[in-house]
Amino acid sequence: MIVPLLRGLRLTLKRFFSRPVTIQYPEQKREVAPRWRGVHFFERNEKGDTRCVACGLCVAVCPSNCIHLVAVELESGERYPETYEINVTRCIFCGFCAEACPVNAIKLGKNYEFVDYRREDFVLDKERLLANAPKEG
Ligand code: SF4
Ligand code: SF4
Repeated sequence: MIVPLLRGLRLTLKRFFSRPVTIQYPEQKREVAPRWRGVHFFERNEKGDTRCVACGLCVAVCPSNCIHLVAVELESGERYPETYEINVTRCIFCGFCAEACPVNAIKLGKNYEFVDYRREDFVLDKERLLANAPKEG
């Protein structure tokens, strides 16, 4: 009877003097793993616009069917996404879209903090995807 009690107390004391594994979130934050897949963002081209060429490969490969793309052809013959939206409430953050993109336009960033009140605020359009790009430095 006394032995299990002493064992339990020993474990309690050991934990009491060891370094805590918890952190004071949100004041303190941990580095996420290098392969972490967070909220999407668009890479920019040299004109500062999205690199996306509206090929539709990300739409085809997305298992959740959560990317909505409307492509247009410019006078120069280039394709451009008139509408590009990702519904992150349906997204499973598999990263297939980023892997399939031939021009590395769509990527998954490190941000895991995205909360909001309305469902429509979880639909990332072109502007929001461009704004989500990580800041240099
Ligand atoms: S991460 Fe996966 S589920 Fe989410 S948009 Fe990309 S392909 Fe679709
Ligand atoms: S994000 Fe990449 S894969 Fe998706 S439509 Fe644009 S260029 Fe194609």
